[in-house]
Amino acid sequence: MSDAISHEIDHFMKGLMKRNPGEPEFHQAVHEVVETLIPFILSNRVYKDAQILERMTEPDRVVIFRVCWEDDAGNIRTNRAWRVQFNNSIGPYKGGIRFHPNVTLSVLKFLGFEQTFKNSLTGLPMGGGKGGSNFNPKGKSDREIMRFCQSLMIELHRHIGEDTDVPAGDIGVGSREISYMFGQYKRLENRFSGILTGKGLSFGGSLVRTEATGYGCAYFCENMLNHIEDSLVDKICSISGSGNVALYAVEKAIELGAKVVTLSDSDGFVHVPNGINLEMLAFVKELKTVRRGRIHEFANHYKGVDFYAGKRPWNVPCDIAFPCATQNEINRADSQELINNGVKAVVEGANMPTNLDGIHEFRHAKVILAPAKAANAGGVAVSGLEQSQNALRLSWSREEVDQRLKSIMLEIHSKCVQHSHKYEDYTDYITGANIAGFKKVADAMLAYGI
Ligand code: GLU
Repeated sequence: MSDAISHEIDHFMKGLMKRNPGEPEFHQAVHEVVETLIPFILSNRVYKDAQILERMTEPDRVVIFRVCWEDDAGNIRTNRAWRVQFNNSIGPYKGGIRFHPNVTLSVLKFLGFEQTFKNSLTGLPMGGGKGGSNFNPKGKSDREIMRFCQSLMIELHRHIGEDTDVPAGDIGVGSREISYMFGQYKRLENRFSGILTGKGLSFGGSLVRTEATGYGCAYFCENMLNHIEDSLVDKICSISGSGNVALYAVEKAIELGAKVVTLSDSDGFVHVPNGINLEMLAFVKELKTVRRGRIHEFANHYKGVDFYAGKRPWNVPCDIAFPCATQNEINRADSQELINNGVKAVVEGANMPTNLDGIHEFRHAKVILAPAKAANAGGVAVSGLEQSQNALRLSWSREEVDQRLKSIMLEIHSKCVQHSHKYEDYTDYITGANIAGFKKVADAMLAYGI
């Protein structure tokens, strides 16, 4: 990297940190993007002159609100919630809602910023947004979840709409929560419309939406491997997480011929040396999505499955790592361990799972890395297809939606390859995704004027 470029990156980051103090996750997400974007912008002065990067790193608006609800013991509880409407240059704001005690404005700004690029890569008309609350759903009863979702919608309903902002699920928000929120919106507004995605199939949801993020990751991985004349057949895959992203990545990876040897949750990880089979997968799906249990129960249930408390799975030798749990789950030491054990590719199912040091290690070791904004875009892409079906008042078949998902993932892969720098035979997907995602949004912003 030339001195002029590193000076420009430092200068940009100093300004951003000054304007947004105390937001480490947001700084990190922007830093990863500007490292690869600034060289592009310096050689395409029109973006520089119009200050597009400064404008794109400032959300259009942030709504912050109080959510009061009553727990089962009759106590009044108060949480904070946010909706970050980041950028609507290419379509209505679109992005999930996260319920987790570590949700802060910084986390939601990082996610909203990433979402803007991700949604642009899908090729669908969707802007970037994200919302959430520091509410902790763990251990809450079904009625408590219902009351919380209803209270949240009492404020959120006035900020969303099918042509303005269309939220969906994320960590801690699945079909149950979306249903409670959708029901409340309908009561408040007396309108039945596609204002949320991830809805139940009987009220406007799309087939394949639940599976989409995980399937999309596996499709993207297969596309990357095909690009170097390889495939998922017989590859050992280590997957973290055990939510929808992880479980459906496992399902599709197995279908494509891979052997998946790990899963995890915040308590630790399970190692299945002989590979997870379909019966085990059905057991974990029921355990995690119906019973809302913990991953160690998987190890208790099957012989030959080991549980490692308090650990992440990155010391298990594998060909491909799929971090599908949460942000910053692969640091420098984890990436070095994976590299030493011979990892060939990393596919980010979670948003920003690899920190900046980890990214540098992988790039240096020429491990191909599919960044989240490309690899996990299948989820929001099928959300976009759900919006299309709602607008048409139609429901497409499973085959139709899956086929469209496959083509979208293939198209994202081509865009990344087209915009990446080629270092001999190494494709830098991070650069490709950042430039391709940026260009569409930036060109729209240029067209609108100041
Ligand atoms: N939360 C998912 C994401 O990170 C899906 C968003 C959506 O479907 O709108 O992309």
